[in-house]
Amino acid sequence: MKGIADARITRVPRQDFLIFGQPLIGEDEIAEVVETLRSGWIGTGPRAKRFEQMMLDYTGGKNAVALNSCTAALFLSLVALGIGEGDEVITTPMTFAATANSIVHTRARPVFVDVIRETMLIDPSLIEKSITPRTRAIMPVHLAGRPCAMDEIMRIAGKHGLFVIGDAAHAIEAQQHGQCVGALGDAGCFSFYATKNVTTAEGGMVITHDPKLAEKIRIMSLHGMSADAHLRFGSSGYRHYDVLLPGYKFNMTDLQAALGIHQLGRVERAWARRNEIWNYYRSNLAHLPLILPAEDEPGTRHARHLYTIIVDQKQCGKSRDQVLQALKEENIGAGVHYTALHLHSWYRTKFGFRAGDFPNAEWIGERTLSLPLSAKLSDTDVEDTIAALYRILF
Ligand SMILES: *Cc1c(COP(=O)(O)O)cnc(C)c1O
Repeated sequence: MKGIADARITRVPRQDFLIFGQPLIGEDEIAEVVETLRSGWIGTGPRAKRFEQMMLDYTGGKNAVALNSCTAALFLSLVALGIGEGDEVITTPMTFAATANSIVHTRARPVFVDVIRETMLIDPSLIEKSITPRTRAIMPVHLAGRPCAMDEIMRIAGKHGLFVIGDAAHAIEAQQHGQCVGALGDAGCFSFYATKNVTTAEGGMVITHDPKLAEKIRIMSLHGMSADAHLRFGSSGYRHYDVLLPGYKFNMTDLQAALGIHQLGRVERAWARRNEIWNYYRSNLAHLPLILPAEDEPGTRHARHLYTIIVDQKQCGKSRDQVLQALKEENIGAGVHYTALHLHSWYRTKFGFRAGDFPNAEWIGERTLSLPLSAKLSDTDVEDTIAALYRILF
């Protein structure tokens, strides 16, 4: 052990900066984008359709609507389910701002429920206490790619007549009992942002078993028009459209879908590489004074989106921010996912949240740090990261 630690500590520090969350873009994506540009159809069309079908095949979902972000997917799911002013939606404070922002955009109220410290996921045993006559939906977040306790969440939702809208931005590959967790519930929302497991640079998708809900979301995503551009200008001749409601502009372009088609084609290979890196971190960081991610829950598959370590000053003598800074000096880019959302300025001011409201989310928010985890990382990148942590913490 001493020998390995010494070798790590004396390893030559990295010379170039390791960018956190780099996407792995292959030649297939590049060729498809070029072909799309040459095809004369760069807007929403055949490639977006194909990407939707591929997502249905991959997730086992019934209906898919490709959009320009997961934020749009969350927002449109809520609106299409009739959620708005005077309603409450239960979610977690241990998430990206987009989750709760999408609730706020509908004029409904986000109601936070604290997380379990070990898994960092919404604690189902606290959900029921937060249900009021105004509660309409639960929005679980499969944080870092770890599946939420969906059996329990679906049971509570069923008992109280609530919708379930899943934030699966991190969790395209996550499963429970062999099913894609993102596709469970009334609507599942996926992100194809640059750092996500499958990327279209910017992009998102809703998956739902309800064809009427999907149709409504599709119409709302494109100005509220009755027929999309592909039908209007396609080979079947011009078709008049009717504006059914004042919709939004949230559609995904074929240029984005061109990336998605090939990214999704490689999703399992990319997962396998991140899983390999995950396991390597787990066995090689075990001797450092850190808390590593919890083991996978039985019967689940973790999507391996983020490798989050807990840096507790009492245990290792350094604060999370000191370790972040030290990693930067070692040329290792790291992330923070997340500082507790209820303590951000707008949420504090608008809803009167204070420190102490959600102790587990706050505890994590002060200590969590995400190490590089991308299929693009080389073995050297991973060794550099581990060596840097040894120098900082051993
Ligand atoms: C990235 C992310 C989103 C938003 O996704 P966009 O596609 O960027 O809109 C929502 N929720 C979580 C947990 C995320 O990480």
